[in-house]
Amino acid sequence: MTLSAELDRCVMCGMCSQHCPTYQLTADENESPRGRIALIAALSSEQLNADARLQSHLEHCTGCRACEAYCPSGVRFGTIMNEAKALLPRQPSPSMPSPQTTRWLRLYQRSGLQKITRASGLLKPLGLAQKENLLPRIPDTPDWQSYYPVGPEINHCGDVALFTGCIANVFDREALDASRRLLNALGYGVHVPPAQGCCGAMALHNGQPDEATALAQQNLDAFSKLDIEAIVHTASGCTAHLSEYSQQLPDGQDFVGKIKDISQFLNGLEWPAHLPITPLHKTVALHTPCSLQNVLRQADAPRQLLQRIPELEVVPLAQNTRCCGGAGQYMLEQADFARQLREQTLDALDNISPVEKPRQKTDTLVTSNLGCALHLAAGLRERGQTTVVTHPVVLLARQLDTMD
Ligand code: SF4
Ligand code: SF4
Repeated sequence: MTLSAELDRCVMCGMCSQHCPTYQLTADENESPRGRIALIAALSSEQLNADARLQSHLEHCTGCRACEAYCPSGVRFGTIMNEAKALLPRQPSPSMPSPQTTRWLRLYQRSGLQKITRASGLLKPLGLAQKENLLPRIPDTPDWQSYYPVGPEINHCGDVALFTGCIANVFDREALDASRRLLNALGYGVHVPPAQGCCGAMALHNGQPDEATALAQQNLDAFSKLDIEAIVHTASGCTAHLSEYSQQLPDGQDFVGKIKDISQFLNGLEWPAHLPITPLHKTVALHTPCSLQNVLRQADAPRQLLQRIPELEVVPLAQNTRCCGGAGQYMLEQADFARQLREQTLDALDNISPVEKPRQKTDTLVTSNLGCALHLAAGLRERGQTTVVTHPVVLLARQLDTMD
């Protein structure tokens, strides 16, 4: 469908606006989905130029797609925005830190230089304090094997593939490792194709559809020859993008049909008796990423997965239907909006306490999207709070003491 045909589906009813986080913050029609659609229609018909004002209204969109979820006319706002971004002046190409940069950043953290730099107060006048605060601890990232078979004592149920991504392969490594171990323990051999790469979401959202399509094709080729039931991933933002590859590649249907969020896939499996889960007497807060909710439509999957842990109390955040402002590069490029949205999410977190200790706050926040996790963890650091942000599979894997 062309951009104008998709735009024509919008009847300008405005039913999406009340669900839009940027409209909620500003009460400005230009910051609502309907307002943005009107701006894009004017841009594509050359009634308006891509001036700085128009561009900023489009760039303030978090891409949460809450508007899509609530639109009675089925307007595909995400598609409209991606095509509109390609009409804007070319953006600098987003890129994953190279292995060399990652090594330097790891050294920066482990040598003590990070502590000294932060304490020196130098970062603030240089305008780098906020970005530097987003940097989580960089873990070691040993090479993956191309295949992890199940142990000889476990019944082999089938094979799946793990999408490791680019940024997730470094910063979500604990969740990816936990997923691999869980899958093996549940009887699934795990392929990790070495030729896979970045999902391409950042390129597409940055107005670079050709680069995004090339990355999608690389991943299609990397997974195409495997005899697998599913392709699973831990970061719902990337998983959501993978689930829409057929919009870029006509032969992407088979790939798309296999894409699953890791919690979604694990929920569909029988839990074997040989794998007891140690009870965890704890209250954790649950954050639901927009990509899991509005694109993958698996909002409840992490809660269902965590219910397998005896005695664990899982309390959803009151703000779970509103974007936290993480949204990939958004937290860096639209820092003011991102910060305001994050504050609302963290205020909601402050209201969650263990039942038996109502004066204390929960010490764990669970989320299924890496971008949200990095953004929320940075906000917690800024607030001086020690709440740990983790992935549901990490929590579950810790309770299984019989795994490799
Ligand atoms: S996007 Fe959907 S809900 Fe929003 S104004 Fe258009 S038709 Fe209405
Ligand atoms: S994607 Fe989210 S931020 Fe963007 S217009 Fe829709 S609801 Fe608003």
